[in-house]
Amino acid sequence: QNNPNPDVSKPRYVRVNTLKLDVEAAFNELSKQHKVQRDDMVPDLLVLPSGTDLHDHPLVKSGSIFMQGKASSMVAVALGPEPGWEVLDACSAPGNKTVHLAALMRGNGKITACELNKDRVRRLEDTIKCAGATNVEVLHGDFLKISTEDPLYSKVRAILLDPSCSGSGTAAERLDHLLPSYTAAQTADVAATPRVKNLAAFQSRALAHALSFPAVERVVYSTCSIYQTENEDVVKSVLPLASSLGFHLETPFPKWSRRGLPVVEGSEHLLRTDPVMDMEGFFIALFVRRSIVNPPRP
Ligand code: SAM
Repeated sequence: QNNPNPDVSKPRYVRVNTLKLDVEAAFNELSKQHKVQRDDMVPDLLVLPSGTDLHDHPLVKSGSIFMQGKASSMVAVALGPEPGWEVLDACSAPGNKTVHLAALMRGNGKITACELNKDRVRRLEDTIKCAGATNVEVLHGDFLKISTEDPLYSKVRAILLDPSCSGSGTAAERLDHLLPSYTAAQTADVAATPRVKNLAAFQSRALAHALSFPAVERVVYSTCSIYQTENEDVVKSVLPLASSLGFHLETPFPKWSRRGLPVVEGSEHLLRTDPVMDMEGFFIALFVRRSIVNPPRP
């Protein structure tokens, strides 16, 4: 069943920072020393054998490649921002997904990267500098306090919301007590602790806020949690609002087989990754609307 020591057999992923290097060039360079494959789903992701240590590799040091897992690399791709768009990364430090967005936008358009925690703002700035992302503006503040009526954000077309979560899908957090039964852990009592409930309350507010920006067409909500409380339940809590604003759930990565728990309408559109089989437990929901139901006031 579950692999008792999942880190041994799992591949290493690197995301090519296409602001600095194209995927082909990175592939060729890494192939000189390692066995490299392209990922079958994320176009700028390369797969190396387990145990490959790239921490000191010149391509990592120069910001040409980022050591970023597959699930984490799926999030910005799911949002799918186009070059030239205005995009808001609501909870952005340390900025891995921010600079992935910048690469997908080929450095064109504008990304506002919002971050509440001052120390983490510094890490965010370092990541942006290292990646050479020039179209990112850092905003040190509370995403919930950005007014949806602020003209500065009246043209934001896409929002990535990757808020603080329990981290229960990541190796450091899940530890052995969660490994024996992923299924049980998703809904286990631990998910009902005040900490997780508080996180879920914040996540719901933040998601409702993201959906309320006047010109937004695409919103991705993601967590590295395996708990239903922080995933499907959060999506469920905003569905009436989302639908009143003209949003529906779309299916990121349709070929991916693991979808949401069947506890909410549209769960087949939600994406889950498994903390053991896929190395990390992530959750992605994609809200899309084709026309603005509540147009911005003149
Ligand atoms: N997206 C990031 C990445 O891929 O590198 C990881 C984001 S991390 C899961 C969540 C971040 O949200 C933390 O840095 C936290 O300090 C920040 N945060 C929490 N509450 C916030 C708020 N109200 N407004 C803005 N940022 C917030």
